[in-house]
Amino acid sequence: MPNIINDIKLDFKDVMLRPKRSTLKSRIDVDLHREITFRNSKRCYKGIPVIASNMDTVGTFEMAKALAKHGLFTTIHKYYTVEDWKLFAESSPESLDHVAATSGTSQEDFERLSTILKEVPDVSFICLDVANGYSQHFVEHVRRVRATFPTHTIIAGNVVTGEMVEELILSGADIIKVGIGPGSVCTTRVKTGVGYPQLSAVLECADAAHGLQGHIISDGGCACPGDVAKAFGAGADFVMIGGLFAGHDQSGGELIQRDGCSYKLFYGMASQTAMEKHAGGKAEYRAAEGRTVEVPYRGDVETTVLDILGGLRSTCTYTGAAKLKELPRRATFIRCTQQANPVYG
Ligand code: 5GP
Repeated sequence: MPNIINDIKLDFKDVMLRPKRSTLKSRIDVDLHREITFRNSKRCYKGIPVIASNMDTVGTFEMAKALAKHGLFTTIHKYYTVEDWKLFAESSPESLDHVAATSGTSQEDFERLSTILKEVPDVSFICLDVANGYSQHFVEHVRRVRATFPTHTIIAGNVVTGEMVEELILSGADIIKVGIGPGSVCTTRVKTGVGYPQLSAVLECADAAHGLQGHIISDGGCACPGDVAKAFGAGADFVMIGGLFAGHDQSGGELIQRDGCSYKLFYGMASQTAMEKHAGGKAEYRAAEGRTVEVPYRGDVETTVLDILGGLRSTCTYTGAAKLKELPRRATFIRCTQQANPVYG
């Protein structure tokens, strides 16, 4: 008989953070930087742990340059050539501490990754990204990459449950990407029925990872800066963002002008659009699990970065966390039935 978990699992929209008495005078007193030492690579990272997603419309070199200026991180998408990487490294060496090279699990992906890491040795982060991190094939791939690159920091995902977080960490990954189905242009939940409410996934996976001195990224589902704060409050070490970073000058995707308004194309990496662009079409045996949307053009991403960081500082002052690292200890979530007043939209 199938099992049913009767505990209620929660998304960001189902909770709010309770304010707490605090001695912080101003948002300016809040430190959003974190210094993190990774379990397997033994390397240390210092920065603001907000990450642009490795989607080809978000994880661009232009995005990395703009985000690195503020100490944020970018997982660079896997469709750049080695030549592109060399040019980026030459033109923006100061950004290299804040980027990861993304790879899938095919032999071709592995060779491409190896060449990038050889040609651009200052890149110390690898992002091994598959839609379904539960396959044994993926675990073996993580082991192979760890054996080949013993001192690189490995991000691996995506998964949503503690036992798989542990398996990937014990197989050599340092940071586990958590999230199946919450993304703004993801249709996995409707196409497959599979998923896990993101706030609960983060709470449970952070607990599993931290028990092994590993770390997690909450990946997807942040529809507003408050959701980023909730993910950190739930124990995420990093928060990965796609949709909130789409539509800017630094985002990839075609610029569309219509009826005097400007839009940018934004699509899931498993959408028909992405498969046509990168794989010459969708194979018959699979369904597209991502959508394509036109998002209003929003100018320089810096405005959005400042909005998100301003929101986070404010969360920390409301909850009395002088440092982002303290937020989970200060966080009490209140279940709610409504988080925004709908009168004006
Ligand atoms: P967002 O911040 O837009 O809510 O979520 C971004 C995340 O959605 C990405 O980092 C990635 O994990 C996920 N994602 C991107 N494209 C697709 C897709 O086509 N299908 C699915 N299932 N997830 C996607």
